Amino acid sequence: MTVLKSKIPKGPISEKWTKHKSDINLVSPANKRLIDIIVVGTGLAGASASATLAELGYNVKTFCFQDSPRRAHSIAAQGGINAAKNYQGDGDSTYRLFYDTIKGGDYRSREANVYRLAEVSTNIIDQCVAQGVPFARDYGGLLDNRSFGGVLVSRTFYAKGQTGQQLLLGAYSAMNRQIGRGQIKMYNRHEMMDIVLIDGKARGIIAKNLITGKLERHGAHAVVIASGGYGNVFFLSTNAMGSNVSAAWKIYKKGAHFANPCFTQIHPTCIPVSGDYQSKLTLMSESLRNDGRIWVPKNIKDVKLIREGKLKPTQINEENRDYYLERRYPAFGNLVPRDVASRAAKERCDEGYGVNKTGEAVYLDFSSAIIRYGKEQAHVKGLDENDKTLVKKLGQDVIRSKYGNLFQMYEKIVDENPYETPMTIYPAVHYTMGGTWVDYNLMTSIPGCYSIGEANFSDHGANRLGASALMQGLADGYFVLPYTIGDYLADDIRTGKISTDQPEFEKAEKTVENQINLFINNKGKNSVDYYHKKLGKIMWNKCGMSRNEKGLKEAMKEIKQLRNDFYKNVKVPGSANEYNEELAKAGRLADFLELGELFAKDGLERTESCGGHFREESQTSEGEAVRDDRNFTFVSVWEHKGEPSKSKLIKEKLNFEEIEVKTRSYK
Ligand SMILES: Cc1cc2nc3c(=O)[nH]c(=O)nc-3n(C[C@H](O)[C@H](O)[C@H](O)COP(=O)(O)OP(=O)(O)OC[C@H]3O[C@@H](n4cnc5c(N)ncnc54)[C@H](O)[C@@H]3O)c2cc1C
Repeated sequence: MTVLKSKIPKGPISEKWTKHKSDINLVSPANKRLIDIIVVGTGLAGASASATLAELGYNVKTFCFQDSPRRAHSIAAQGGINAAKNYQGDGDSTYRLFYDTIKGGDYRSREANVYRLAEVSTNIIDQCVAQGVPFARDYGGLLDNRSFGGVLVSRTFYAKGQTGQQLLLGAYSAMNRQIGRGQIKMYNRHEMMDIVLIDGKARGIIAKNLITGKLERHGAHAVVIASGGYGNVFFLSTNAMGSNVSAAWKIYKKGAHFANPCFTQIHPTCIPVSGDYQSKLTLMSESLRNDGRIWVPKNIKDVKLIREGKLKPTQINEENRDYYLERRYPAFGNLVPRDVASRAAKERCDEGYGVNKTGEAVYLDFSSAIIRYGKEQAHVKGLDENDKTLVKKLGQDVIRSKYGNLFQMYEKIVDENPYETPMTIYPAVHYTMGGTWVDYNLMTSIPGCYSIGEANFSDHGANRLGASALMQGLADGYFVLPYTIGDYLADDIRTGKISTDQPEFEKAEKTVENQINLFINNKGKNSVDYYHKKLGKIMWNKCGMSRNEKGLKEAMKEIKQLRNDFYKNVKVPGSANEYNEELAKAGRLADFLELGELFAKDGLERTESCGGHFREESQTSEGEAVRDDRNFTFVSVWEHKGEPSKSKLIKEKLNFEEIEVKTRSYK
């Protein structure tokens, strides 16, 4: 029987991490030179880990499929990063961030991990400021904060709507220093195709040089997977087009467990789908909910006129607008957590109040904030607060300084000016809380194989609050893994270089080669995207914002059929020995087609509703999620057993000793 060892240290929660760091094994500086580590991924998790491990003296080899590490998906992160600095003096603390994150995740994450995350959050800000990350500052030059959903304090540090970009530039420059020193060997345009295990331990990877198509063997004493999330299993998502599950899936198939695959975050404020030929969705950052108010018309006749183009939202007066989040959740209003806001938008649209042609859009309106800020500015400047034109201009300037790049992006895509008319938004797939299962040291169930950032099942439980993914990825990379990996590597100081001539490397390479040849020689009739779109439709309709037993069972069946058809009829043009994007996509989709089935199976097993996982069978008469703590206070950990439908469920029980488990209310 498989036994999960989460290795959570004993003792009071506030002392666990400190004590653990003092108890675990260390590798001396001289011996670190004898150890090689492979890091797959250069997003915030992989870049911060690579830089820090190299700084410590390990020999690091880092891989990414983009042409430069700084093109990793993390660069797209907009809104901000949380930290319990309490710079606003509004009552924040390590404990409150810990509490908010546990509650936000709907009591489905590990207390010890989340406490550690809250604890190191403040170090991240200091680290990034020292690197020169240009966080927004207030008038007096101090670091500024804003609020994100599901919390009652302002703890989010930001750099306009480009926080991910600035943080990644910081981590990337730290990496570059080590690349310059020869401590990191960087492999751009290289894709990890499989992991190599020797005597049950992770000892290297098979990588593909995407430019030449050549397969390469790379040995190391440990392998770190930092390959990001798998939201693209839905085809349409806010993720970068290349984001995929393959690295995580390959290790799953070799013995690493996969946790909570169905826990997906649907983000409420994205630009609505415009048509069938779209391949990407665009996020409008949650930070906009600090100032934007969400509404739909109160009267169905107004909705009809809007859809016919006979009425504009600006012509609907206040009493005929339904600010449904403020109405239903007065305490948190527009800043309820993402799952709550997403479901509320769906509920209104399902009732027929959607404001675009497809009926799947609600308004995000800045007019009140523009007037509020405009009046304040007029007052500050001693100008006429009753001059409507002046107030509007001053208010728009404030909004521009806070969210200018987001407004510009919206206007470019939708061709409407959001300073003058409300944005239209709708929920979209955004983040995956599920991922590779890891213990407290961030090690997977394969000895020597670690998983960090969005690739692991992370500390977010069933719903990631905003601005906490960047926090977790950087906590893992800068402050957790560099300590915990030494505990394992201390036994490897006498191992010597890992030779790639061993049969295990040869076998893994052959398997990869066979799959590549299979795709190239298939000569089918359908493109990779043909299958990916079909998979995405099944996922969105049957495993999306709300799920039920019938739909999930159908999804499992349909995905399996689609997978069989894919292998028979997919067409991959070109050859294996050249830059071949279609070939890369085929390999990634093959893994999505397996993950999708496990995703549905996981959703089917969890008959409760929690966080982003909404089972229609488990709701109140008002449509609120109903958790089942008695039967489901566990992490669903899946063990590979061949076909996805045959995967075995192991339950990691969650113990809440510090925080009282309550109904998750935001009213
Ligand atoms: C539009 C958008 C906005 C967001 N805004 C915020 C925000 O404001 N705040 C917040 O906290 N979170 C935000 N998030 C979430 C956050 O950006 C991500 O969770 C986080 O950046 C993931 O970082 P990562 O390092 O784990 O992975 P990624 O940044 O996804 O990096 C993955 C890396 O792995 C590499 N890789 C993958 N597979 C392979 C392979 N097989 N071989 C080689 N290399 C591989 C890629 O090349 C890449 O370098 C946002 C997400 C989106 C989509």
